[in-house]
Amino acid sequence: MTDPEDLATRVREGELRIHELEEHTDHDTAAEARRLFVEGETGTDLESIGDYTFPAERADPNIENMIGAAQIPMGIVGPVDVNGEETGANDGGAADGEHYLPLATTEGALLASVNRGLGVIRTAGGADARVTKNGMTRAPVFRVKGVAEAAETVEWVNDNFDVLADAAESTTSHGELLDVEPYVVGDSVYLRFAYDTKDAMGMNMATIATGEACEIVESETPASLVALSGNLCSDKKPAAINAVEGRGRSVTADVLIPGELVEERLHTTADAIAEANTRKNLTGSAKAGSLGFNAHAANVVAAAFLATGQDEAQVVEAANTITTMDARRREDGTADLYASVSLASLEVGTVGGGTKLPTQSEALEILGLRGGGDPAGSNADALAEIIAVGALAGELSLLAALASRHLASAHEDLGR
Ligand code: NAP
Repeated sequence: MTDPEDLATRVREGELRIHELEEHTDHDTAAEARRLFVEGETGTDLESIGDYTFPAERADPNIENMIGAAQIPMGIVGPVDVNGEETGANDGGAADGEHYLPLATTEGALLASVNRGLGVIRTAGGADARVTKNGMTRAPVFRVKGVAEAAETVEWVNDNFDVLADAAESTTSHGELLDVEPYVVGDSVYLRFAYDTKDAMGMNMATIATGEACEIVESETPASLVALSGNLCSDKKPAAINAVEGRGRSVTADVLIPGELVEERLHTTADAIAEANTRKNLTGSAKAGSLGFNAHAANVVAAAFLATGQDEAQVVEAANTITTMDARRREDGTADLYASVSLASLEVGTVGGGTKLPTQSEALEILGLRGGGDPAGSNADALAEIIAVGALAGELSLLAALASRHLASAHEDLGR
C-alpha cells in the first residue's frame, strides 16, 4: 500500500495535485492522504471526518477530493399512516399503510414536532396522499436570428414530438418524453422537455436525453444550441414555473381531523388553526412575495432528502408548497379541521444519485422503497407521498403550537 504520509508530502511539495491521488492509490488511502495534507495546512485534527464506515470507492460517483464524511444525526418518525388504497373513483396511491420515515437533521425539536403531527394523523385514521403530476424537466436555450426563425423552430417542434421522443428515449431504457413546451424571448428559444423518469430523480437522465434531442432540433431548424440548460428548467433556483407547472413529482396530502382530537391532542381548535394558517401561511406569505405558502415544509423535505440520498440542493423547489387549513363546520356548530399540503415540485428518486450510498440505501430500506419499484416509478411515487404526509404533520404541529399559544393568551386575557 502506498504510504499516505508520503502522498501528502508529495501534494504539499506540488509534485501531485490534490485530485490526482486516486490515480496512485486506493480511494481510502487517497482520502487519508488528503486529510493529512489538509491537517498540515490548516493545523486541524480531522479524526471525526475520517471516521466513516463505507469504502470510499462507493462514493466515487458522488464526490471528488473526498476527505471523509459529514455525519448528520438521523432519527425516525412515524409510523406515517397513508391511505393509498384503491377506491371505486381512482387507482389509489403508490404508498399504502404504515411507514417509518427516517429524517436526518441538526435541528432539535423537528422530529418531536413532526411525530406529534403524525400521531394525530394516525388517530384520525391516516392521511390520503397522491402524486398528481410527474415530469422532470430540462430546458435548453437556442439562438435564432429573430422572431421569424423562432416561429419556424416552434412550429417544427410542435409538429415533430415523435421525432424528438425517439431521439431522447434512445439514450435511456426507463425515461419517457412526456412534453416539449416552447418559450420565445426575442432571439432566444427555450424548449422545456419534461420526462417521466420512473424511480430516478432523473436530472442526469433528462439532461442526456435532451442533449440527443437537441442535435435533431439543430439539424432540422435554424436554431443553434447555446446551452443545454437555459434556466427555464428550473433546477435549484426559486422559480415560479416550478410552483405553477410542477417539476419532479407534484404531490398532495390531506387529512380530516375531528374537532375533539384537535382540542385533546393539539390543545387548540380547528378555527384557531385555520385562522393562523390564513393569516400566516397565506396572507403573510403573499405580503412577503413568497413562492411558498407554508410554515416549514422544507424542514421535513430537507431532513428526508439527507437521510435517503436525494440531491439536497433541490430542497429549494420543496419550498413551493401550499398549506391549506379549513374549519369544516358540522350541523351542531362545532368544527373539524381539514388540512392539506401540496408540494408542486418534489424531486425524488429511489435509484441513482446518492440513493446508492450505504446509509442512504439503508434509510430507503426502512421505508421499503430501496431501488426500482414494480411497476417502475412506484417507489419514487410512494417516497413522494410519504414525505408529503410527513410535511403535513410538520405543518399541523407547528400551526397548532402557534394557535394554542394564541389561545392560551386569549384565555389569560379573558380570565382577567
Ligand atoms: P443517475 O444515477 O444518473 O441514473 C439513474 C439510472 O438508473 C437511470 O438513468 C436508469 O438507467 C437507471 N435505472 C435503473 N432502474 C431504474 C428505475 N426503476 N427507474 C428509473 N431509472 C432506473 O440518476 P438521475 O436520477 O438521472 O440523476 C440524479 C443525479 O443527477 C444526482 O446525483 C444529482 O445530484 C445529479 N444532478 C445532475 C444534474 C445534471 O444537470 N446532469 C443536475 C442536478 C443534479 P437508464 O436511463 O439506462 O434506463
